[in-house]
Amino acid sequence: MFVLALWSVATLVTGSVATAGAPEPAGPPATVTYIGNEGFLVECGGRKFLIDALYRAGVVGYAVISYETRQKMEAAEPPFDVDIVLATHYHDDHFNADAVGTHLANNPEARFIGTSQCAEALKDFERYDEIKSRLHTSVPTEGDIITVDHAGIRVDVMNIHHGRTRNVQNLGYLVRIDGRSFLHIGDSQADADVFKLYKLESTDIDIAFIPYWYLAYAKQKTKVRNGIRAANIIPMHIPPKDLRPSFMDDLGGWQFGTDQMKREFKNVTIYADELEKHRFE
Ligand SMILES: [Zn+2]
Repeated sequence: MFVLALWSVATLVTGSVATAGAPEPAGPPATVTYIGNEGFLVECGGRKFLIDALYRAGVVGYAVISYETRQKMEAAEPPFDVDIVLATHYHDDHFNADAVGTHLANNPEARFIGTSQCAEALKDFERYDEIKSRLHTSVPTEGDIITVDHAGIRVDVMNIHHGRTRNVQNLGYLVRIDGRSFLHIGDSQADADVFKLYKLESTDIDIAFIPYWYLAYAKQKTKVRNGIRAANIIPMHIPPKDLRPSFMDDLGGWQFGTDQMKREFKNVTIYADELEKHRFE
């Protein structure tokens, strides 16, 4: 399967339509590889980042990464020799301190961006001294942005909550590489008012990684329609296709539920298999 999700759509959406011929691409193509749950490898313009991919045990009901892929990622073997590792929060289906620590120890130029709860867990990693200077784990207050620049990648760190009553920090990231922009909001439970604080409705986003509940449930869909402007949407946190019973059952099953997301939102790319990879022009 090949995705025909064109970057030119972004140009049309923003209104800067080319007058003749094909629109000028706004930047290099990107390839996005699914790792598991909300975990992806993004490659663009010779730069790479891993987000929510370095976890181990996972959580029952959601994808667990194969041992082979985990080993390669933790060893920072190509294609996992990334510039930046990001984690939206410290839950077991997004982050594992030993997995992140091992990767960083094996990839001495790489930086880590995550929450202070992630930082606390990383202190127990046996080679902590080798990695501690490369951790960016400040959490902005809601509405504020902390920017991290590394290796030609600019990351805007946003505070997008995981439920107001839960004691878990959750970060959203706007990653910019060579004119391309990638939004990942982790396990956000935020309403559109939080997205508005970050002006996501007026920010041109090439690829938005959105947890599937925002694309599946009536009350949530408007938050994406009104609150986030993206040329391409990649739904995430979707349970494995063959799992029974599944959190997708109340959406009519995996196939029906994901088909419905594609019908209702433009340019949705559904990932199902570990290491499934698509190129976005
Ligand atoms: Zn979570």
